Amino acid sequence: MSDESETRTVEHRPPEETFSLLADETRLAILRELSDADEPLGFSDLRARVGVRDSGKFNYHLKKLLDSFVRRDEDGYELTLAGSQVVGALLAGTYTASVSLDPIEIDGDCRECGASLVAVYEDEHAKIRCIECDTVRMSFTFPPGTIEQYDREELPLAFERWVFSEFAQATRGFCPNCSGRLDASLELNEDGHDRNRSLRNEVAYLRYHCDRCGNEMLASVDTLATNHSTVVAFLADRDIDLDDVPSWELNQILDANETEVLSSDPSRVRSTVGVGGEYIALVVDDFGEVVDVERSDDREAV
Ligand SMILES: [Zn+2]
Ligand SMILES: [Zn+2]
Repeated sequence: MSDESETRTVEHRPPEETFSLLADETRLAILRELSDADEPLGFSDLRARVGVRDSGKFNYHLKKLLDSFVRRDEDGYELTLAGSQVVGALLAGTYTASVSLDPIEIDGDCRECGASLVAVYEDEHAKIRCIECDTVRMSFTFPPGTIEQYDREELPLAFERWVFSEFAQATRGFCPNCSGRLDASLELNEDGHDRNRSLRNEVAYLRYHCDRCGNEMLASVDTLATNHSTVVAFLADRDIDLDDVPSWELNQILDANETEVLSSDPSRVRSTVGVGGEYIALVVDDFGEVVDVERSDDREAV
């Protein structure tokens, strides 16, 4: 590598200054119009779309956004990454929407008591939980503005796809909240402690933590296993397409989906998925990495 490629500069603008630029209706309208446009827009076209007659006044607001939220090149004006993220957050309803949703019944049973499961939305969290006992199968933040894009009966599967897409980001080391670096660890559940009650019966779970924003995600080792490419392929070979089968239905199809502790220091577990008498097992290390894949049609040999 040359010396030049090893040099990098990251400058930070003061956030209070940058956010204060957005406290204006015309400027937010500019961001929305640029987001709706398929290509960069010229000055007059953009002004007409925003609907401001006074060219001087419009120019004043547009200039305020330049460099932080809007960039300009020879083709016209377009959003910067920050600009499209502001519009994204407005659409997701993170700052503005509030939602109430009656519980939606789903086709799955509580692992603890066998009663039915429901999907609910409470405190900006989508949850899959039991109607009888207090067992929560999954709980995760879900953008309120996205709820209205789905019919009621589509929502449970939408919730699950959302959490798996966040999980896919986490397992690749990116914080779904701030895009920072995420650290993973495998923790043995020695005292049965679990904050959100979804993992208390698991022998181990994965913790994804972002030092920068404090975001934390906890996931079962099963979740890691059933999202791992080798297991997805193993199931696909047996006509189980995970895009069509939500995790609460998958339990009813599998012969086995369980995790055992191999060692505690460093922590290491094996998660086994079985269907039709054939098994695949993943060995996961203390950093939450899959370090070995074992296959067998004989349970004992796995
Ligand atoms: Zn229950
Ligand atoms: Zn973060």
